[in-house]
Amino acid sequence: MATALTIKTALNYGIGVLSLSSESPKVDTEVLLCEVLQCNRSKLIIDPEQSLSDSQITRFLAFIEQRKLGHPVSYIIGHQDFWTLSLEVNESTLIPRPETELLVELAVSLPVPANSHCLDLGTGTGAIALAIASEKSDWQVLGCDRVADAVALAQRNKRRNNITNVAFIESHWFNQLPEQKFDVIVTNPPYVESNSDYLNRGDLRFEPQSALVAGGDGLDDIRQIIAMASDYLNPQGWLLIEHGFEQSKSIQSLLVAQGFNKVTTKLDYAGHDRVTMAQFGVA
Ligand code: GLN
Repeated sequence: MATALTIKTALNYGIGVLSLSSESPKVDTEVLLCEVLQCNRSKLIIDPEQSLSDSQITRFLAFIEQRKLGHPVSYIIGHQDFWTLSLEVNESTLIPRPETELLVELAVSLPVPANSHCLDLGTGTGAIALAIASEKSDWQVLGCDRVADAVALAQRNKRRNNITNVAFIESHWFNQLPEQKFDVIVTNPPYVESNSDYLNRGDLRFEPQSALVAGGDGLDDIRQIIAMASDYLNPQGWLLIEHGFEQSKSIQSLLVAQGFNKVTTKLDYAGHDRVTMAQFGVA
């Protein structure tokens, strides 16, 4: 039977429990409590003495327990903000990362014609495709993923955010795509090295390996994408790839070898090489 708990004591309890297992016990507890109370963080500061109901206490304690076991906060609450959107997330795919907003920013700033067609390879939650479609109402965006549950999730996120100029289909990279050319292809593919220690840390332990790992050097999927992309690009179309911070040189060489020009790598907000972009077919 749950005992009486106020916002203040709930916060103290959560922070205490999570301080041993999480690097961000305070923020985690606040986000979990806000989800239970359906409020924003200022409420926690303004009303510290407000009591939780029995059902809120039960749910809060269950959330803290899951977080203590390492489950990512976004999977526990079932949603994550990205760009200007609120996205449903689940274990079928990666939780959208803030650094991926760079890919969106670059895509929507490209010098491409009005009414462009854009493809998002490995769309997952649909984050990138939906963010681009929300900024570019005259574009048609297609997102694909090899995982059927991810495609269904992206479709729910489309409805959740009332975005109409986007479609999602099941396809392993280009393999099941309709015969169509695009002006822009974007992708945040798996790019972590299979033996990377990073995979055993924090939230990554709970995310699908298929969305993270791409062979010994992390480039298996990127190689496939670069090899096939030009068949799906209009002349002067652009390819934008998110990648690991030490992969830019290899990716630049692969792009040059496939006839891409204007090969440029951009840094994320942490100062890491994060996105390499290139234009097809013009010197
Ligand atoms: N950017 C992700 C991370 O650092 C890796 C995701 C990916 O492989 N696309 O956790």
